[in-house]
Amino acid sequence: MATKTSTPQSSDSSKSTAKSSKARATKAAHASSPAVLIHGQPAYAESAGEAYMNAAQKTHFRAILEAWKRELMEEVDRTLHYMQDESANLPDPVDRASQEEEFSLELRTRDRERKLIRKIDETLKSLDEDDYGYCATCGEKIGIRRLEARPTATLCIDCKTLAEIKEKQLQG
Ligand SMILES: [Zn+2]
Repeated sequence: MATKTSTPQSSDSSKSTAKSSKARATKAAHASSPAVLIHGQPAYAESAGEAYMNAAQKTHFRAILEAWKRELMEEVDRTLHYMQDESANLPDPVDRASQEEEFSLELRTRDRERKLIRKIDETLKSLDEDDYGYCATCGEKIGIRRLEARPTATLCIDCKTLAEIKEKQLQG
């Protein structure tokens, strides 16, 4: 299902594209029955007695992860082109300062996106190795719905909650 369409021409709208493409995807989903799309994929409809992380589920999550990665890579690309286009030599020091501020923000965003891409790659590897979908701490199933909400999750909700509490206590 190709609901995500990239618009390479509109490099000036790099900030709004992620949002608007999401809106488009949601709109497209209303035409068919599943209302929620996860990176272009309809939510997984489990049948009764179906085995956890069977081939169909793995295919489903692979599609989500790969589509998400593509979106991020396009975003990184767009940011780069945007900065190349905009990096004019501004004579006004105020303009120059605000552009520098804007660019450093863009770079931080790009850095975050690159880290996320790496995390997605690690997650895809765990799918290949049949480790995907199980909690790294207790080994329990993370669950389809939680994975759809956080496709790179490595902890079940209980272990995640516990880890967050511990972290808070450490911070004092
Ligand atoms: Zn756990």
